[in-house]
Amino acid sequence: MYRERVARLMEQLKAQELDALLVTNLPNIQYLTGFTGSTALVLASPGGCWFITDSRYTERVAKTLDPLYTLVDNTALKLVEDVWPKLDGAAAFKRVGFEAAHMSVAAQERYRAAAQFNWVATENIVENLRIVKDEGEIELIRQAVLLGERIFTELCGICGPDTTETDLAAEINYRSMKYGAEGVSFSPIIAAGPNSAMPHASYTLQKLVPGAPLTFDMGVRLNGYISDMTRTVFFKDCPEKWARIYNIVREAKDLAAAAIKPGMTGKQVDAVARNIITKHGYGDNFGHGLGHGVGIEVHELPRLAKVSELVLTPGMCVTDEPGIYLPGEGGIRIEDILVVREGGAENLNTLETGIKVIG
Ligand code: ZN
Ligand code: ZN
Repeated sequence: MYRERVARLMEQLKAQELDALLVTNLPNIQYLTGFTGSTALVLASPGGCWFITDSRYTERVAKTLDPLYTLVDNTALKLVEDVWPKLDGAAAFKRVGFEAAHMSVAAQERYRAAAQFNWVATENIVENLRIVKDEGEIELIRQAVLLGERIFTELCGICGPDTTETDLAAEINYRSMKYGAEGVSFSPIIAAGPNSAMPHASYTLQKLVPGAPLTFDMGVRLNGYISDMTRTVFFKDCPEKWARIYNIVREAKDLAAAAIKPGMTGKQVDAVARNIITKHGYGDNFGHGLGHGVGIEVHELPRLAKVSELVLTPGMCVTDEPGIYLPGEGGIRIEDILVVREGGAENLNTLETGIKVIG
């Protein structure tokens, strides 16, 4: 698996006339090696690939690292000054890429001073490989989705008049770990009543508000892959006004999912949902994009947004998450994860999205 990914990376290096790429972005390192710790570098070239880490990780990595990599123990070495000469063949490199979005200016200066390559700023080389998921990755995302759904379903059963947003967020953290995930994939959003009007509310000591929306936006990280799901439910009662808005959001989400097919741009898919919401008069109340890629990270390429010209291809995994937000009153968002397939979208979520009253 990693050999195939590195082979695709080498095609990109060739296309960009690079002798090697220094990978510093940890999610990219996970993709290329499986490593999930906090300190590592990968230097990849057609003549050899090196995995550089320190003593906290060398024992674990030595057991699991694909033999295509040479493990370099950086303990007690000054990384920049001392490691390069130890890499057999690296001295002959001329053009070496670095990940411009993932290296500080200070680090760049140290690298430039230590190794007299022509350092080339690159963007999204590995991220672009990650856009299309293989079936193994899709299965991992599916498992994360199912665990997230299990936790959400349980939480709907424990909501009472004294439950706060923080109580529910804490339960998501606790249950994620208890059920075998590495943890949550992002700090949960639990937004009751007027708080649900803020798409990225966090959680507060606010108690659940009867007759108003309650938004859960949550996910888990399981075996290195994440889920991201939003459900808006109603505590005690769903008034007619909110039911009407809910059904508009649901229709927008369903029509976007039904429309997706390979060859469409992110912008075109976004427009399907946005047009429905605009037709009902709420265009100004849907400020964010329709969705984003998911995988190792919660926000990956491609984006489904007004500005996204990226063309969808089979294997891409994206969220479909339209919303309508009324400042001071509340908001509705529903979010599933879709896989772009040859014949359309496959929904990895299994939970119904009809109006749900809890408590
Ligand atoms: Zn979300
Ligand atoms: Zn999302």
